[in-house]
Amino acid sequence: MMQAEQTVNQPPAHSMYRGTFEGLLANVQKCAQVCPTLEKALEDLSPNGELSFKIQWGRGATCDHTSRVVTLTMGKCACHLTQELVQEVTNMSFAREAAFLNSAASNGDISRDTYVKTIELTEFLGVRNVVKSFDALGETGDLGCEHAFDKNGAARTYVQRTTDNTVLAVDLNDEVFNEYFNADFLQNHKERIGERYYQIAGNNGWSYPPTD
Ligand SMILES: [Zn+2]
Repeated sequence: MMQAEQTVNQPPAHSMYRGTFEGLLANVQKCAQVCPTLEKALEDLSPNGELSFKIQWGRGATCDHTSRVVTLTMGKCACHLTQELVQEVTNMSFAREAAFLNSAASNGDISRDTYVKTIELTEFLGVRNVVKSFDALGETGDLGCEHAFDKNGAARTYVQRTTDNTVLAVDLNDEVFNEYFNADFLQNHKERIGERYYQIAGNNGWSYPPTD
């Protein structure tokens, strides 16, 4: 029998997840056991012991505070989806902040820049939760496929430098957060949030794009 030629330096296979959302939530629980801020977010989102939001499949990972739905990317592997769900659980835990910001934008009380930066701060705390929990779980995390998400990802470089800080130590003036916020890889994400600001603020928006 012919043996397939051994390939070296091949990344581990991450096969498509075929399990349930409950299976992914069990993974997030494992992450929460080693990441207190994620544990707190999950607790806040489960006032009666049951999650107060729904999960669905879609294209790309998003969190809708109004309909209270988290969307995960169809066709990804278990560790990728766990990463997405840790991020979106954290995002969902900032529902009150998001409502405040949307209301302020709608009333014309804040600028696009302030809106984008504050949203990105909450997202940064989610990225921190991903890095912290995946680091703590390490190769023994057993999240249902060969570990792990991109361990050399660009976001990680900045985030791991804050690992020893408490969440509250990170604010809009935090040096590491500002480095992250200004990094090239975040530009498209910031643009999308900026577009959302214009949709919400309409003509009340500061620096509304001129039409002529
Ligand atoms: Zn994977």
